[in-house]
Amino acid sequence: MAGIEKMTAGLLDTLGVEYALYTQGSMPSHSPLTGEQIAAVRIADAADTDAALAAAGAAFRAWRDVPAPRRGELVRLFGEELRAAKDDLATLVTIEAGKIPSEGAGEVQEMIDICDFAVGLSRQLHGLTIATERPGHRMMEIWHPLGVVGVISAFNFPVAVWAWNAALALVCGNSVVWKPSEKTPLTALATQAIFERALRRFGDAPAGLSQVLIGGRETGEALVDDARVALVSATGSTRMGRAVAPRLAQRFARAILELGGNNGVIVAPSADLDLALRGVAFGAMGTAGQRCTTTRRLFVHDSIYDGFVARLKAAYASVGVGNPLESTTLVGPLIDRAAYEAMQAALPAAKAAGGVVHGGERVGDGASYYVRPALVEMPGQVGPVLEETFAPILYVMRYDDLDTAIRLHNDVAAGLSSAIFTTDLREAERFLAASDCGIANVNLGTSGAEIGGAFGGEKETGGGRESGSDAWRQYMRRATNTVNYSDALPLAQGVSFDLG
Ligand code: NAD
Repeated sequence: MAGIEKMTAGLLDTLGVEYALYTQGSMPSHSPLTGEQIAAVRIADAADTDAALAAAGAAFRAWRDVPAPRRGELVRLFGEELRAAKDDLATLVTIEAGKIPSEGAGEVQEMIDICDFAVGLSRQLHGLTIATERPGHRMMEIWHPLGVVGVISAFNFPVAVWAWNAALALVCGNSVVWKPSEKTPLTALATQAIFERALRRFGDAPAGLSQVLIGGRETGEALVDDARVALVSATGSTRMGRAVAPRLAQRFARAILELGGNNGVIVAPSADLDLALRGVAFGAMGTAGQRCTTTRRLFVHDSIYDGFVARLKAAYASVGVGNPLESTTLVGPLIDRAAYEAMQAALPAAKAAGGVVHGGERVGDGASYYVRPALVEMPGQVGPVLEETFAPILYVMRYDDLDTAIRLHNDVAAGLSSAIFTTDLREAERFLAASDCGIANVNLGTSGAEIGGAFGGEKETGGGRESGSDAWRQYMRRATNTVNYSDALPLAQGVSFDLG
C-alpha cells in the first residue's frame, strides 16, 4: 500500500468505517494530494436507493413523534462524537478534498457548531399566535416535521454542508438521505460511522434515520425524482441546479438550492489596505480557489490600484503551493484534472479579452494538479470574468466611481457573497444597500461564513438558505390552526350564510 492509501485506511479504521465499504466496490476514489487511488467504494444501485428511501420513510414516521428536545439530544451526542473525532475527520478531509489542515479542521468545527446551534433550536421550534377578527377564536401556527430530506452535496465542503442540513433536519423531526459528491465518498462514510456512534449512545432512534447513498449524478437524480423525498437540498454547480430545479418543480417538491458563485470585492480609497490584502488573499487563494464563496472579481479604486495590486501580486508570488500535509503550504491541489483543464481554458480566454495574467502555472506533474494561483488584470468585466471557473483565478479591475463599481459587481449571473473594504461609513452602507448577494460584508472577505447566519445566495446561486437564523423553517411545514371556543359560528370577513 502506498503512503496516502495506507494513511487513509488507518484513518478510516480509527473512525470506524467497515473495511469492505471502501475496498470492495467498483468506484475508484483518488486523493488530489497525489492522484493515487485510495479506495474502491460501492455504488448504490436502484434497489439500495429504494430500500434506503423506504427505511427513511418509516424512520420519519417514528421520529416525528419524538419530542423535539429529545431529538436534540441525538444531535448533542453527535456533536460530542465529532469533537472526539475532529482531528481524524479533518485529516481525511485534507486527503480527500485537498484542504490545508486548518481548513479541514475548520470544516469539522462548522459541523460541531451547527450541532450546538441545532440543540438549542430543538427547544425553540415555535410559531406565532395571531390576532383573530372573530370573537371567541384563537389562531396560531404550528410547525410540523416535513418528511424525508434528501441532501446532495459538492466535493469542496464534503462534510459541513451535510451537517448544516442534517443537524437542522433531524431536530425538526425529519429523516435524512445523503448523496455525497462522487469525488468525496470516504469522508461521507466516516461521517456516517461517527453519526452511528451517536445513535448507539442515544439508544432508541428508529433505524434508517440517516443514511448515505454513494454514487454519481444518477443516484442524485433518483433522490430528486422520488416522491418519497419531501425536500431536496442540493449543493453544487449552477449547471446541476438547472437540471435539478425543474425536476423538483415538476413534482412540487421542496428545494433548497446552493449553487455557484462569482463573488466580488471592492477596495475603496479609504480602505485599511493591510486588512484588505489579507481578506482578498484568503478569499481568492484559500482552498485553492475552490470555495463557492471564493473571491473571483476584485474592483480596486484607481487612486490606490498600483500600490495595492503590486502588494497583492507579491503575496501571490510568495504563497506556498504544494502538498497540504506540509506545514508551509497555504494552497493545496485542485480536485482533479478536469478542474485544471477548466483553469487552463479560462486563462487564455482572459488573455484574448485583454487580460494580463500573472501566475496560473502548473506546479509539478503526474496525476495530481497543483497550480500557482492566478491574478489577472482585466481591462473590463468581459469574457471569463462573467463566469465561475472553480479554480484560483482572481480577475482584477480598476474603478473610479463607486456606483459604477457596484453596478458591475452586481452585473453577473450569480449572487452569493460580496464585500467592500472601506472606512467610509457612507460607502459601506451604500454597498450593503445595493449588493444583490445573499452575503454582503464590510471589511472582511467573501469566504468563511459563520453558521449563525443564514447561508446562501440569489439569482443563479439558487435562492436557498441553510444553516443559521431561521433556515430551519424550510425543513418543516407550517399549519395555521384556528380554534373556535365560542358557541357561535361567525364567518370571516362578515360573510353571512344563514340557513334560516
Ligand atoms: P457538481 O455540480 O459537479 O456536483 C454537486 C453534486 O451534485 C454532486 O453530488 C453530484 O453528483 C450531484 N449532481 C450533479 N448533477 C446532478 C443531477 N443532474 N442530478 C442530481 N445530482 C447531480 O459540483 P462540484 O464540482 O461537486 O462542486 C463545485 C460547485 O458547487 C461550484 O459551482 C460551487 O460554487 C458550488 N458550491 C456551492 C455552494 C453553496 O453553498 N452555494 C457550496 C459548495 C459548492
